[in-house]
Amino acid sequence: RGSCASDSSDSVISTGSETESQVYKVVLLGEHGVGKSSLARVFGGVEDAGHDYDEAGSTYDRCIMVDEEEASIVLYDIWEQDNSQWLKEQCMRMGDAYIIVYSVTDKSSFEKASELRIQLRRARQSENIPIILVGNKSDLVRSREVTVDEGSACAVVFDCKFIETSASLHHNVQDLFEGIVRQIRLRKDSKED
Ligand code: GDP
Ligand code: MG
Repeated sequence: RGSCASDSSDSVISTGSETESQVYKVVLLGEHGVGKSSLARVFGGVEDAGHDYDEAGSTYDRCIMVDEEEASIVLYDIWEQDNSQWLKEQCMRMGDAYIIVYSVTDKSSFEKASELRIQLRRARQSENIPIILVGNKSDLVRSREVTVDEGSACAVVFDCKFIETSASLHHNVQDLFEGIVRQIRLRKDSKED
């Protein structure tokens, strides 16, 4: 039962109104090189240590157990697939939740994250969409340019969640995706009340 149990080939299509067929669309945003694709591959369980991919864009389909309940997630790593305005707008419109990634070793990627947060708010004005701000590459201690405090302060200003991760060490990646699911569920529950 549920979309998790079935053949996943058609699970991107979510038309049913039953909650058990719900598929959450999660979109990765962030500057080039911050680790979006690395995080996506860890999530998708296809990570190949020490190997750098340079694919144009990918979509990962997975079920995870969160608080004893299955959640089906489609993760879109397509932000950089091409440079068309159309795609960017599509990305801003399609997500049920967003992961905005910066690298803790790159201050300008942190500033870009703020910009993306503003764009997203503009695109989805009246909606209360779950967003998690992610400071990736936390393993690179000596080249850090953004502190944990700066990251979490930014998240407070932008009214979103915050977590630091290391895709390389798989640190906090599971927590990140569980956090996304919990946030989506929270918003959904409060809408139904
Ligand atoms: P994207 O452009 O945002 O998709 O970034 P990628 O996932 O392609 O990563 C860019 C580079 O950063 C690659 O060389 C990765 O191996 C590296 N990288 C990604 N995440 C981490 C991390 O958590 N720690 C370290 N040390 N390197 C990382
Ligand atoms: Mg990438």
